[in-house]
Amino acid sequence: MLRVLGETPPGTFCICCHSAEGRVLKIKDASVIGGKPETLHRDCAERWFGAIEQSRTSTRSRYPGLSQDNWWRRHRSNAEK
Ligand SMILES: [Zn+2]
Repeated sequence: MLRVLGETPPGTFCICCHSAEGRVLKIKDASVIGGKPETLHRDCAERWFGAIEQSRTSTRSRYPGLSQDNWWRRHRSNAEK
């Protein structure tokens, strides 16, 4: 479940499509406890958090001891490749 927390300042980049065009919002996945908000277009958010959902499920099963912080870092660096 996605929750829009608010607007971002002009020039803020969407972490999914790396564009600052249009309205980039602060959005978090409300179903993740302790999840942090990301700057995303509304349309990109579904894709972004959908991808996280899949990768979290597979990552958790492979690395059950991985903390959320480490997991986030792994995910972010994978996404940047
Ligand atoms: Zn975007």
